[in-house]
This record gives sequence, C-alpha cells and structure tokens, in this order.
Amino acid sequence: MAEILVLAEHSGESVKKVTTELLTLARRLGEPSVVWTGPGADGGREKLAEFGAAKVYVAASEDLDVYVVAPKAELLASLTADKSPAAVLVASTGEGREVAARLAVKTGSGLLTDAVGLSDDLTAEQSIFGGAITVQSTVRSGTPIVAVRPNAIAPEPAPAAAEVEEVSFSASDAARTARVTERVMAERSERPELTEASIVVSGGRGVGSAENFALIEKLADSLGAAVGASRAATDAGWYPHQFQVGQTGKTVSPQLYLAVGISGAIQHRAGMQTSKTIMVINKDPEAPIFELADFGVVGDLFQVVPQLTEEISRRSGG
Ligand SMILES: Cc1cc2nc3c(=O)[nH]c(=O)nc-3n(C[C@H](O)[C@H](O)[C@H](O)COP(=O)(O)OP(=O)(O)OC[C@H]3O[C@@H](n4cnc5c(N)ncnc54)[C@H](O)[C@@H]3O)c2cc1C
Repeated sequence: MAEILVLAEHSGESVKKVTTELLTLARRLGEPSVVWTGPGADGGREKLAEFGAAKVYVAASEDLDVYVVAPKAELLASLTADKSPAAVLVASTGEGREVAARLAVKTGSGLLTDAVGLSDDLTAEQSIFGGAITVQSTVRSGTPIVAVRPNAIAPEPAPAAAEVEEVSFSASDAARTARVTERVMAERSERPELTEASIVVSGGRGVGSAENFALIEKLADSLGAAVGASRAATDAGWYPHQFQVGQTGKTVSPQLYLAVGISGAIQHRAGMQTSKTIMVINKDPEAPIFELADFGVVGDLFQVVPQLTEEISRRSGG
C-alpha cells in the first residue's frame, strides 16, 4: 500500500488534534507514516497508534527544535526522496504552510494549501475567495503536498502499530540561519483552542463592551466551547486579537458556530463559513449573517444569551 507521510504537529509530548485528523485522512489514501520532529515522541506515540499510524519516523535531532521551520522542510525532503510516498500531508497552520512551501520548492512538487477535503485520487477541495467558491485541484508534478485545514476532517480512531524508526538528521548551515531564542507560553484558559474547538461562540460589535463579553464567555463555557470575536470587537479592544475570526484572523470550521451580535461581513464569513452548523443571534432580521444560518434567533442578545446559557446549564446539570 502506498505510504503517506504525515507531519506531526505536537507540543513536546502531546499530539495536537489536527494530527489525528491528518491520520484519519491519510488512512483513506494509503498507509500513514508520521514524521515526528524533535524530542517527545515517546509521549506522543500512543495517540499516533490509536489513530492509525503504521510507522513513526522519529528525528529527535535538536536542530528541529532550536531552529525555525527550515530544518523540518529539509527532513521532510530527505524522507520524501528516500521513501517516495504517494503524498505528504501537513496541517494548514502558519508553521505547516511554511514547511509545506519550502518542501515544495526543495522537491519540485506541487502544493495545495488550505484543503478542506481530499478524495482517494488526491483531488483536494479548497474553499477560496472568502469561501464564495469551492475549487477542486490536483497536483501534476512531483509528490503531492497537501496542507489540510484543522477541523476539516472528523478524527476517527483505528489502532495500528506506530512502529518507531529512528531517523538521524542534521540540518544544513543554510537551514540554521534563524534560531528560536525564546519560547513564551501563551496564557491558556480552560477553554479549547479556537481553531480546534468543536463549538465556537463568537461575539461582535453588538456585544457592546469588554465587560459584556462575559456573557459570551458564560455561554461558551456552558457548551464547552471556545470564544471567538469579530474584528469590530477585537479592534475596539473588547477581546484579544488572537481570538479574531475571519480573513485577517483565525479560520475555524467547528461542528457548531454561534455568531452573536455579528452582522456577517464577507471578511468575517471567510473565517467561519465552512462551519458544519451555524447559529445566529442578531436583533436585525436583515443582517447578512442570516443568509448562512442553519438556525437563527431574531432578538436582543442581552435577553437571549442569558436565557440560552441558563437553559443549557440546566439541561446539562451545570
Ligand atoms: C481588509 C479587511 C480585513 C478584515 N478582516 C476581518 C476579519 O478577519 N474578521 C472580521 O470579523 N472582520 C474583518 N474585517 C471587518 C469587517 O468588514 C466588518 O467590519 C466586521 O466583521 C464587522 O464586525 P461585526 O459584525 O461585529 O460588527 P457590525 O457589522 O457593526 O455588526 C454588528 C451586528 O450586531 C447586531 N446587534 C447590535 N446590537 C445587538 C443586540 N443587542 N442584540 C443582537 N444583535 C445586535 C447588529 O444588528 C449588527 O448586525 C475586515 C475588514 C477589512 C477591510
């Protein structure tokens, strides 16, 4: 069976959810082999096995940890030359896309980014122009490299051996030109990470102030959801920019997206319209966001949101 290389996204010892999604996809295309960069593979192996990794190429070299992305692209290029995989899958994250682009140049291969689906014949589905158009694309030269958007695929376990094969690797001088000098952990809340969450509750200008975002947070917490915001809300300083959803913010594709007090500008839609189910709370029945909504409530969020939060908490026994 054709080998499919999957670049693991991990934070030290824990595998990020998007890697389990890539493995689920890779299993449909062939036999998945994970490429693990830097230390920590022992901690991640169990999860990789659970989601169907047949092999794990472990390159524990420090070079992969202390230098910015270039060594990862070098490692993948050398594995691509050695193993001749049918495809290389990476996560369409900031780092994943940069590694993929460098890999494409090194191997003379075609690259498809931001795929939201990938069929058995490696035709990728991409959602472009703010989600207004869906494109089907295939790679016509080299080894297909596909960067897949987090949350595009539902991860399904299918245990496999995750047999470890150590890979010795040393980065070239050219790949050692940019070094990581410091890592600062972002303050983390208990909430799920925005781009990985199954449910996202976002607030917009209608929320009215930073203090009122507590309403959005309470609703999110009743659902175990992440909190997002429109640019109007982040530009106003009501919520941090890292939670902005949209063209110049994060792209999310959760099972449920709840837009509260958001009008639905094209730039906001670009970051959320591939969500599986969209629910809207807005007092203006003409707000364009209703065009996307599976469920909509026309009403004042200050009345609707507290009642919704209370009812959800009551039903979930919280
Ligand atoms: C280059 C560029 C990039 C951009 N990138 C992004 C991006 O990444 N993300 C993004 O979000 N925007 C982005 N924008 C901005 C975008 O064009 C909109 O200005 C922004 O999305 C509007 O945010 P909003 O929907 O919260 O505010 P508004 O458009 O002002 O809408 C507020 C909504 O709240 C409703 N409302 C008000 N009060 C209540 C209430 N009490 N109860 C219920 N509903 C209420 C109103 O009816 C209205 O529909 C970008 C713009 C540009 C030019």
